[in-house]
Amino acid sequence: MTRGTKALISASALKNNFQRAKQLAPNSRVWAVIKADAYGHGSVAVANVLHDADGYAVATLGEARTLRAAGIKLPILLLAGVTQAAHLSEAADSQLECVLHCREQLAFLERLDSRETLKVWLKLDTGMHRLGFSPEDLQEAVSHLEQCANVDVVGIMTHMCCADDLSQPQITERQLKVIRGSQHEDKQISIANSASVIKWPQTHADWVRPGIMLYGATPFADISAREIGLAAAMTLVAPVIAIKQLAKGESVGYGMRWTAGRDSVIATLAIGYADGYPRHAPDGTPVWLNGKVVPLSGRVCMDMMMIDVTDLPDVKVGDLAELWGANLPVDEVGRYVDTIGYELVTRVSPRVEREMV
Ligand code: PLP
Repeated sequence: MTRGTKALISASALKNNFQRAKQLAPNSRVWAVIKADAYGHGSVAVANVLHDADGYAVATLGEARTLRAAGIKLPILLLAGVTQAAHLSEAADSQLECVLHCREQLAFLERLDSRETLKVWLKLDTGMHRLGFSPEDLQEAVSHLEQCANVDVVGIMTHMCCADDLSQPQITERQLKVIRGSQHEDKQISIANSASVIKWPQTHADWVRPGIMLYGATPFADISAREIGLAAAMTLVAPVIAIKQLAKGESVGYGMRWTAGRDSVIATLAIGYADGYPRHAPDGTPVWLNGKVVPLSGRVCMDMMMIDVTDLPDVKVGDLAELWGANLPVDEVGRYVDTIGYELVTRVSPRVEREMV
């Protein structure tokens, strides 16, 4: 028996969000980005729900291994994580498509067994300056790899740094110009993350790579998931495990950070920072309980946190609070804790049971 703290993963929300990506980019194939354990939602379970994807994109070989071990047969794109020659052999054995972004990785290809064939995407740095070949080096890499019989350069991809910032369209336009100048007729192109899928149709190309939108969170600071037609895929819940009556002036938790300004009722929830709820969440961070928003009160502990339920009648031990999800957008909680939905969902720790609903 678990203590009831769970991340409920909605299969219908995942499907809805995937369909939304398909509607927005109807002429592109979709790499469903399920790296970081599908942004904390459980990669195998999510892959099984999103079986209409054309393939899955992951960040590490270990993530790809988990999918193949679970019997996932669709194409898998390894976005990064090739740091040794042996990784390429494993990628070839597991029929992964690999993104290669630098000369050092090209050297690894020389050690690939001549009987192994590897599908490769070359990454072009169009301005993010994180990974990728310069346009000149890309031409050289393509020419070089064309001489390698067991390497098939299937595509060229890039990543957008500011597609979520609609006040700076010139940056995305500039990146697009660079990739347009580096196209090869026989190579597929992949550019678009969620923000690009949603707001930049000119980036859609052959393959899109939506991540966060599949999980029902927004990549934008000022456009909500609901406005984009997305549904929260993760609802993080925790039960009330204690209720305390406090007299005005009494304080709650470590450091006595929150003090009752009136006689108050405090509920303790079975979730804390070891479960992935941010410790630095301030007093007043919203929590959903019994149909209402109530404020976090006091410092988040390792396994517990406290909320002020004075204005909520009839709260009982066992009632389930929602930390974010169907009733409380993760993006809204993110604003209180000075981060983004991406970070909150990916940090839900392994001790929180994931349940597909
Ligand atoms: N493509 C690459 C290379 C990425 O690193 C990511 C995520 O960081 C994505 C696509 C998906 O981005 P998003 O979650 O913003 O859709």
